[in-house]
Amino acid sequence: MAAGPKEDVFCRIWRGLERAYVAYKDDRVMVIMDLYPLERGQALVVPREHFQFFYEMPKGLMEHFYLVSSATARALKELYKPKAVAMLARGLRVPHYHLILIPVREGSFVDRLFSLMDAVQGFPPVPPEVVAERYQGLGLSLRTYRPSHEELEVDSGRLAELIAKELGRA
Ligand SMILES: [Zn+2]
Repeated sequence: MAAGPKEDVFCRIWRGLERAYVAYKDDRVMVIMDLYPLERGQALVVPREHFQFFYEMPKGLMEHFYLVSSATARALKELYKPKAVAMLARGLRVPHYHLILIPVREGSFVDRLFSLMDAVQGFPPVPPEVVAERYQGLGLSLRTYRPSHEELEVDSGRLAELIAKELGRA
Protein backbone atom coordinates (compact mmCIF):
# COMPACT_ATOMS: atom_id res chain seq x y z
CA MET A 1 0.00 0.00 0.00
CA ALA A 2 1.35 3.39 -0.95
CA ALA A 3 2.72 5.53 1.86
CA GLY A 4 2.83 9.29 1.92
CA PRO A 5 1.01 12.34 3.19
CA LYS A 6 -2.19 11.46 1.28
CA GLU A 7 -2.45 8.12 3.05
CA ASP A 8 -5.85 7.69 4.71
CA VAL A 9 -6.35 7.57 8.45
CA PHE A 10 -7.04 3.83 8.65
CA CYS A 11 -3.85 2.94 6.76
CA ARG A 12 -1.97 5.28 9.07
CA ILE A 13 -3.43 3.48 12.08
CA TRP A 14 -2.47 0.11 10.59
CA ARG A 15 1.10 1.31 10.25
CA GLY A 16 1.15 2.71 13.78
CA LEU A 17 1.48 6.30 12.58
CA GLU A 18 -1.81 7.45 14.06
CA ARG A 19 -3.04 7.10 17.64
CA ALA A 20 -5.87 4.60 18.04
CA TYR A 21 -7.51 2.56 20.78
CA VAL A 22 -7.30 -0.94 19.38
CA ALA A 23 -9.61 -3.62 20.75
CA TYR A 24 -8.63 -6.28 18.21
CA LYS A 25 -6.14 -6.63 15.38
CA ASP A 26 -4.91 -9.44 13.15
CA ASP A 27 -3.38 -9.42 9.67
CA ARG A 28 -6.70 -8.62 7.93
CA VAL A 29 -9.10 -6.85 10.27
CA MET A 30 -8.92 -4.46 13.22
CA VAL A 31 -11.43 -3.17 15.75
CA ILE A 32 -10.84 0.32 17.11
CA MET A 33 -12.82 2.64 19.36
CA ASP A 34 -14.61 5.44 17.53
CA LEU A 35 -13.12 8.79 18.63
CA TYR A 36 -16.37 10.53 17.62
CA PRO A 37 -19.04 8.17 18.95
CA LEU A 38 -22.76 8.70 19.23
CA GLU A 39 -22.68 6.37 22.22
CA ARG A 40 -20.06 5.14 24.66
CA GLY A 41 -18.46 1.93 23.42
CA GLN A 42 -19.00 2.64 19.73
CA ALA A 43 -16.43 0.63 17.78
CA LEU A 44 -15.27 0.43 14.17
CA VAL A 45 -14.44 -2.81 12.35
CA VAL A 46 -11.98 -2.04 9.58
CA PRO A 47 -10.37 -4.28 6.95
CA ARG A 48 -6.71 -3.70 6.17
CA GLU A 49 -7.24 -3.62 2.41
CA HIS A 50 -9.16 -0.99 0.48
CA PHE A 51 -12.81 -1.74 -0.35
CA GLN A 52 -15.52 0.84 -0.70
CA PHE A 53 -18.40 -1.61 -0.54
CA PHE A 54 -18.85 -4.91 1.25
CA TYR A 55 -19.60 -6.80 -1.96
CA GLU A 56 -16.09 -6.04 -3.22
CA MET A 57 -14.50 -8.17 -0.49
CA PRO A 58 -13.29 -11.66 -1.36
CA LYS A 59 -15.33 -14.43 0.24
CA GLY A 60 -12.70 -15.50 2.79
CA LEU A 61 -12.21 -11.95 4.04
CA MET A 62 -15.96 -11.34 4.09
CA GLU A 63 -16.45 -14.33 6.39
CA HIS A 64 -13.60 -13.32 8.66
CA PHE A 65 -14.70 -9.67 8.74
CA TYR A 66 -18.23 -10.55 9.83
CA LEU A 67 -17.00 -13.16 12.27
CA VAL A 68 -14.90 -10.51 14.03
CA SER A 69 -17.84 -8.07 13.78
CA SER A 70 -20.27 -10.47 15.43
CA ALA A 71 -17.75 -11.30 18.18
CA THR A 72 -17.36 -7.55 18.75
CA ALA A 73 -21.13 -7.01 18.88
CA ARG A 74 -21.50 -9.80 21.46
CA ALA A 75 -18.64 -8.28 23.47
CA LEU A 76 -20.35 -4.86 23.38
CA LYS A 77 -23.60 -6.46 24.50
CA GLU A 78 -21.89 -8.10 27.45
CA LEU A 79 -19.91 -5.01 28.42
CA TYR A 80 -22.59 -2.31 28.20
CA LYS A 81 -25.86 -4.26 28.39
CA PRO A 82 -27.55 -2.15 25.67
CA LYS A 83 -30.93 -3.19 24.29
CA ALA A 84 -29.20 -3.97 20.98
CA VAL A 85 -26.04 -3.37 19.00
CA ALA A 86 -26.74 -1.53 15.74
CA MET A 87 -24.58 -1.79 12.66
CA LEU A 88 -23.99 1.04 10.23
CA ALA A 89 -21.65 0.72 7.26
CA ARG A 90 -19.50 3.32 5.57
CA GLY A 91 -16.83 3.39 2.93
CA LEU A 92 -17.20 6.47 0.77
CA ARG A 93 -15.34 9.04 2.86
CA VAL A 94 -12.38 6.74 3.54
CA PRO A 95 -11.49 3.96 1.06
CA HIS A 96 -12.01 1.28 3.70
CA TYR A 97 -15.48 -0.21 3.90
CA HIS A 98 -16.04 -0.37 7.67
CA LEU A 99 -18.74 -1.14 10.18
CA ILE A 100 -19.78 1.18 12.97
CA LEU A 101 -21.09 -0.91 15.85
CA ILE A 102 -23.24 1.15 18.21
CA PRO A 103 -24.60 0.04 21.58
CA VAL A 104 -28.25 1.14 21.40
CA ARG A 105 -29.55 2.52 24.68
CA GLU A 106 -33.16 3.44 25.44
CA GLY A 107 -33.92 6.96 24.22
CA SER A 108 -30.57 7.39 22.46
CA PHE A 109 -30.23 8.91 19.00
CA VAL A 110 -30.09 5.55 17.22
CA ASP A 111 -32.96 4.17 19.30
CA ARG A 112 -35.06 7.20 18.34
CA LEU A 113 -33.95 6.98 14.73
CA PHE A 114 -35.33 3.44 14.47
CA SER A 115 -38.50 4.58 16.21
CA LEU A 116 -38.90 7.44 13.71
CA MET A 117 -38.25 5.07 10.81
CA ASP A 118 -41.00 2.78 12.08
CA ALA A 119 -43.38 5.75 12.22
CA VAL A 120 -42.45 7.04 8.76
CA GLN A 121 -42.67 3.57 7.25
CA GLY A 122 -46.05 3.05 8.89
CA PHE A 123 -45.02 -0.16 10.55
CA PRO A 124 -47.21 -0.16 12.55
CA PRO A 125 -49.34 2.74 11.25
CA VAL A 126 -49.36 5.80 13.55
CA PRO A 127 -51.08 9.22 13.26
CA PRO A 128 -49.06 12.11 11.75
CA GLU A 129 -48.63 13.78 15.16
CA VAL A 130 -46.76 10.71 16.40
CA VAL A 131 -44.41 10.95 13.42
CA ALA A 132 -43.87 14.64 14.27
CA GLU A 133 -43.24 13.83 17.95
CA ARG A 134 -40.66 11.19 17.12
CA TYR A 135 -38.96 13.52 14.66
CA GLN A 136 -38.70 16.16 17.36
CA GLY A 137 -37.49 13.56 19.85
CA LEU A 138 -34.72 12.59 17.46
CA GLY A 139 -33.53 16.20 17.30
CA LEU A 140 -33.62 16.51 21.08
CA SER A 141 -31.48 13.38 21.50
CA LEU A 142 -28.61 14.89 19.50
CA ARG A 143 -25.58 15.75 21.57
CA THR A 144 -21.86 15.97 21.15
CA TYR A 145 -19.98 13.38 23.12
CA ARG A 146 -16.20 13.17 23.23
CA PRO A 147 -14.82 10.34 25.33
CA SER A 148 -11.69 11.01 27.35
CA HIS A 149 -8.37 9.30 26.72
CA GLU A 150 -8.83 7.33 29.97
CA GLU A 151 -12.31 6.18 28.99
CA LEU A 152 -11.08 4.99 25.58
CA GLU A 153 -8.13 3.19 27.18
CA VAL A 154 -10.36 1.38 29.65
CA ASP A 155 -13.07 0.55 27.10
CA SER A 156 -10.67 -0.77 24.45
CA GLY A 157 -8.92 -2.91 27.06
CA ARG A 158 -12.15 -4.44 28.38
CA LEU A 159 -13.48 -4.93 24.89
CA ALA A 160 -10.22 -6.61 23.79
CA GLU A 161 -10.60 -9.28 26.49
CA LEU A 162 -14.21 -9.95 25.60
CA ILE A 163 -13.61 -10.10 21.84
CA ALA A 164 -10.77 -12.59 22.37
CA LYS A 165 -13.11 -14.68 24.53
CA GLU A 166 -15.90 -14.54 21.92
CA LEU A 167 -13.55 -15.46 19.07
CA GLY A 168 -12.24 -18.37 21.11
CA ARG A 169 -15.79 -19.67 21.30
CA ALA A 170 -16.47 -19.22 17.57
ZN1 LIG B 1 -6.26 2.93 3.49
